[in-house]
Amino acid sequence: MERIELFQNKSDCCGCGACMNICPKGAITMQEDEFGYVYPVIDDEKCVKCGLCKKACQYKDGTEFYKVRKAYAAAIKNSKEVMVVASGGIFTTLAKQVLSENGVVFGVSMDNIEGQLTPRHIDIQDEKDLYKLQGSKYVQSNTGNAYKKVKEYLLEGRNVLFSGTPCQITGLKAYLGKEYQNLLTVDVICHGVPSTRMFQDYIKSLEKKLGGKIYSYKFRDKSRGQGMNAQILYKKQNGEEKVKYIDGYLTSYFYMFLKSIIYRENCYSCPYARAERVSDITAGDFWGVYQVHADEMNKSNMSNLKGVSCMLLNTEKGLQYFEKIQNRLDYFESSVEKVAKNNKQLREPSERVSERENVLRIYQGQGYDGVEQYFPKIIGNKKYFYILKNLAPKGLKRRIKQVISMIKK
Ligand SMILES: Cc1cc2nc3c(=O)[nH]c(=O)nc-3n(C[C@H](O)[C@H](O)[C@H](O)COP(=O)(O)OP(=O)(O)OC[C@H]3O[C@@H](n4cnc5c(N)ncnc54)[C@H](O)[C@@H]3O)c2cc1C
Ligand code: SF4
Ligand code: SF4
Ligand code: SF4
Repeated sequence: MERIELFQNKSDCCGCGACMNICPKGAITMQEDEFGYVYPVIDDEKCVKCGLCKKACQYKDGTEFYKVRKAYAAAIKNSKEVMVVASGGIFTTLAKQVLSENGVVFGVSMDNIEGQLTPRHIDIQDEKDLYKLQGSKYVQSNTGNAYKKVKEYLLEGRNVLFSGTPCQITGLKAYLGKEYQNLLTVDVICHGVPSTRMFQDYIKSLEKKLGGKIYSYKFRDKSRGQGMNAQILYKKQNGEEKVKYIDGYLTSYFYMFLKSIIYRENCYSCPYARAERVSDITAGDFWGVYQVHADEMNKSNMSNLKGVSCMLLNTEKGLQYFEKIQNRLDYFESSVEKVAKNNKQLREPSERVSERENVLRIYQGQGYDGVEQYFPKIIGNKKYFYILKNLAPKGLKRRIKQVISMIKK
């Protein structure tokens, strides 16, 4: 019988792991390529050519898309809590609801594994663990055996919330192969993921500069408003605990993430970068909310200094869950067109920039230290705008942003 081939080009595999989860012979492992992006590899000795993995691969087609039924701008009412979530805390509010129903919640945690920060899908059953899943980790998460565990809980009759990127939601659904009434899916709007290895190498490079061991990296710290500011916790060699805040645009990995330079190959042709969605509820940042909803924002208790989410309700189940959580949210109705105005991912995939080849070539040849040395060339004079932006009072920041966007044009 012919050898099973899961994909021909890297643009056809998102690394969701559905094939690995479904293989009854444990013949598939997810392995890193030369840049650290993971792909499934079949062990021909173990493979019995049953074809289940091919059937479970629905990344490119076979996925059901839903037309958005309702769109909202929303944020958690609790002012302390809104400060720790990625944007407005839509996921957090839904997670609390499902946990209160004795359910199980899956999401991405940044765990310390063998001294390395590692993003991966975990499940929690207690609200005290919810902090692990809060906040965006801008790295591809390892789904591991999460899909298998979801199925086990579903068959036990538990309510399950699974959150992840749209391609991970598709992977889960393809693995399950049928609808479950007790499953609620929540996708984050996604513009692409870098590899875990590159993130970990960036951390090591940063540790050398800081002279300490980093044990926490929070991509979205809100102490200076909603934006792309990272908070880093580390321990110096003398045991002293330190905290460092960095503007995401001034640090290499975060900048290259924001500028679409280091995503997986397939992200540049992502089939999910569209207004129709694959999950029950979609959560994202409501960028430019004042531009499209000035009156509503001025009347509401929400503020984009703390974080405002867009929430898209895509199925009957999504609408039902909104009924259950709406008391805990500040919100007003919007439309998918208004949300998409400043959120390109609801219209088209990220552009594949030519700098990607240079960065990956340097990374492969010289490691992340080489990338770090090359970074000043990538950021160029824009660096001074970001420095200025940080020094400027808040009102002026908006003006500087406008200048930057004019320069980019
Ligand atoms: C890689 C990535 C790219 C994104 N790109 C965009 C974008 O272009 N436009 C936009 O509007 N929003 C984007 N987001 C979503 C945004 O950053 C917030 O995650 C989203 O608004 C949810 O906010 P929240 O306050 O409800 O989340 P919280 O309540 O803080 O919960 C965080 C949620 O994010 C999930 N999550 C965290 N890290 C990952 C990860 N690596 N992979 C999968 N899921 C993860 C958690 O499981 C949880 O569901 C992106 C998120 C990620 C992870
Ligand atoms: S199921 Fe997912 S990981 Fe496996 S080949 Fe398809 S896209 Fe890649
Ligand atoms: S064909 Fe069957 S046994 Fe072989 S890798 Fe795929 S799922 Fe596993
Ligand atoms: S951009 Fe698309 S393919 Fe890439 S991680 Fe996000 S949802 Fe998956």
